[in-house]
Amino acid sequence: MSNDNGEMSLPIHSNGQPLLQIKDLHVWYELKRFGFGHAGYVRAVDGVNFNLEQGEAIACVGESGCGKSSLMKTILGLNIPTKGDVVFDDTSLSVTRGNDLREYRSKIGYVQQDPFGALPPFMNIQTILEEPMIINGISDKDERQRRIRKILEEVKLTPVEEVLPKYPHMLSGGQQQRVVIARAMIMEPKLLVADEPVSMLDASVRVEILRILRKLQESHNLAVIYITHDLSTVRYFSEFIFVMYAGEIVEFARMQDLLDDAKHPYTHALLEASSDPNADNALVQREIPKGEPPSLVNPPPGCRFHPRCPHFMEGICDVKEPPNFEVAPRHLVACWLYDENIAHKDAL
Ligand code: SF4
Repeated sequence: MSNDNGEMSLPIHSNGQPLLQIKDLHVWYELKRFGFGHAGYVRAVDGVNFNLEQGEAIACVGESGCGKSSLMKTILGLNIPTKGDVVFDDTSLSVTRGNDLREYRSKIGYVQQDPFGALPPFMNIQTILEEPMIINGISDKDERQRRIRKILEEVKLTPVEEVLPKYPHMLSGGQQQRVVIARAMIMEPKLLVADEPVSMLDASVRVEILRILRKLQESHNLAVIYITHDLSTVRYFSEFIFVMYAGEIVEFARMQDLLDDAKHPYTHALLEASSDPNADNALVQREIPKGEPPSLVNPPPGCRFHPRCPHFMEGICDVKEPPNFEVAPRHLVACWLYDENIAHKDAL
């Protein structure tokens, strides 16, 4: 399913106004000029569309440099869209500034990749969790303590009295990430963005952290965007998934449909490279697709994956950008192999 520009439009929700709408989003960074002339743009996000309703979880998967971090920063209100828009809780990011932007950001929780780097080392856990509430005007001390106690119990950091006086360096990596999650939840956000939340943790605690996130999503009717390079962890988490490559979405599906029957050659390569977070060798990652991701300043013509694709069709893939083919209900793929007029589908 594509819009008039041939860009992917993802039909996640079935009714009501979505909590989050990503509309033809472009995030381009201008390159520094040397002398006269225009140096060009890094096209980090290049025409992304999707919607997310309250209570839904979606995973965004792709290797480093695919645009997922720029997409995340824009949703968090840290980037202004170059073109297109992000509409969250009826607030349009493209026209929101000042105090309204601060309020926009306060409604989104953010779980960082590196828990130790995310927590101020000179603050104890009590202060770390209380500070966002003070900044956002929650003046009732009893209410602040109620929220702190409740969220620490939900992330399973107990006994609360023993945890609160501790400093981040006194906790394990898994415990630090629970504090990061607790801080992200303390303002009771409607949306949580989790950026590689388990990639820096020991294999033994990854699944437990993902289960905590899943439980929070269900108990708080929270919308969650889970960003990762590792397909093996998403099965524990979301209902829907999309795969990004070189600033674009190349495949979208229900989680199980994609894991059982992936269509895009790039998704196949990611699946082959993924490891099981429950396995003993979970830290051993196989190489994912041969070759380098393309330049985002001058992306290849046609399909951006064509220089690395084992199913590349000369004169087709390098000429015209593939539209999105609906291969099953709510399963979209941007690949010429799924054009019924091209007889190469058996290759996969
Ligand atoms: Fe490969 Fe062509 Fe499909 Fe791109 S459009 S993924 S190059 S087969």
